[in-house]
Amino acid sequence: MTIRLFNTLTSRIEELRPLDGDTLRIYACGPTVYDYGHIGNFRTFLHVDVLRRVLELNGTRVRHVMNITDVDDKIIRNATAAGVPIHDYTQRFEKAFFEDLDTLSVEHPEVVARATHHIPEMVRLIQRLAEQGLAYKAEDGSWYFRIAGFPDYGKLSKKDFSGITDGARVDVDEYDKDSARDFALWKAPKPGEFFWETELGPGRPGWHIECSAMAMRYLGESFDLHAGGEDLMFPHHENEIAQSESATHKTFAHHWFHVRFLLVEGRKMSKSEGNFYTLRDLLLKGHKASAIRFLLISVPYRQQLNFTFEGLAAETGAVERLRTFQQRLRSIRPAAQVHEQLAAETTRASEQFRNALANDLNTAEARAAIFELVRQANAAMDAGAIGTENISRIEELLADFDKVFAVLEDRDAEWTRAALAWAEREGRLDQVAPEVKAQLSLSDAQIEAFIEERNQARRTRNFARADAIRKELLEKGIILEDSKEGVRWKRK
Ligand code: AMP
Ligand code: ZN
Repeated sequence: MTIRLFNTLTSRIEELRPLDGDTLRIYACGPTVYDYGHIGNFRTFLHVDVLRRVLELNGTRVRHVMNITDVDDKIIRNATAAGVPIHDYTQRFEKAFFEDLDTLSVEHPEVVARATHHIPEMVRLIQRLAEQGLAYKAEDGSWYFRIAGFPDYGKLSKKDFSGITDGARVDVDEYDKDSARDFALWKAPKPGEFFWETELGPGRPGWHIECSAMAMRYLGESFDLHAGGEDLMFPHHENEIAQSESATHKTFAHHWFHVRFLLVEGRKMSKSEGNFYTLRDLLLKGHKASAIRFLLISVPYRQQLNFTFEGLAAETGAVERLRTFQQRLRSIRPAAQVHEQLAAETTRASEQFRNALANDLNTAEARAAIFELVRQANAAMDAGAIGTENISRIEELLADFDKVFAVLEDRDAEWTRAALAWAEREGRLDQVAPEVKAQLSLSDAQIEAFIEERNQARRTRNFARADAIRKELLEKGIILEDSKEGVRWKRK
């Protein structure tokens, strides 16, 4: 099946096939590691994850490179304020970032490239530009890219820069979004600031040159797809194109993939609005990692997602419904006959699921196909009419579904416990919701021991004690379910 995806560069939906006929090469802008990741960041990383998982489901080999921006103005400012070396400062947030990716079941890229490890590549690229008169050195020792020397400037963001003023410069990492000014490739150090000694003179790289240099190092001068959040389209990606294509005279990335920004309760997320959430904030409030993942990918990447707590509660229920369904399928006694109508429905759902994802990653329609099948299969099970072949085909489809959505395996309690342990280490226990503390006060082994004691009490007909144990566990957020196969428990 061919995957079709919107390309920001051409403003068209296009087929995505590896340029080299073998491996689809993706570069995705990674985090600037100066703080913990927020749910907006993760919306973008999760949709890149969906993209690579859909390609893999489709049998396409993927080589995915992600950078870590571990030096920039904010990092230098914050590390200086904290009185620690830059590396010590960034390492903590980089580690947290990868923990968060694991919590959200995001597959790791094939290559993770740190900016500070690729200074020579960046210096060489700037030298290549200088040889063509497209990079120049200013009085203070910083190097700039000459935008007027790249007539295609603006082709990605579709902004009109016909009135570019040659030589107007911007030297901070936090660019304004409307003007095209010559941007810094290499920044001379301010007094007391950390720098690298290089052939360009002392300094550190600008943000844009990082991505061009590392993308080319690991993917070649021309590759398939470049990804990031919509805010990066201008100036970051526009500048990457200008630098790279000026240096190589080749198309840099053929396909540009941008994820629309997340809103929270209908507004732009910001600390001053009080609607700013990191992943860790949500876990400590008692929300499940699987539900957060499911919500963040529920709306297709080009549409606005409005994050709300009601929405998150609904997703928690949705994940639960799927998990309960999977368990039911596994334990049901099959009927002797195939349920023909359900078999036809399974074929239909399977086609709808794959077509939706292949059609510009329509995650909403893909999951709707699965939920409709769940409804019909539950009805067939209620009627005792589901056959062995029905079950195995539905299980296969659920497995494919989970290769992309990755929410069926229940590791939620484990991730919440990890977040709680982190909060404890960081002295943030005041941010933990009381029910989370209560839920997590018992380990699995302790719960099993209580259940064993309750079983023992029931065998000796000490029902008062058995009931007391059930009540005590419930107060700690543990629900017991008695079934024919014995006692099952789950955390509330
Ligand atoms: P940063 O660490 O700020 O460089 O951002 C990492 C990634 O998150 C980039 O691809 C951004 O475009 C993306 N991003 C930042 N804020 C949001 C948001 N509110 N919604 C979606 N993506 C975002
Ligand atoms: Zn980038």
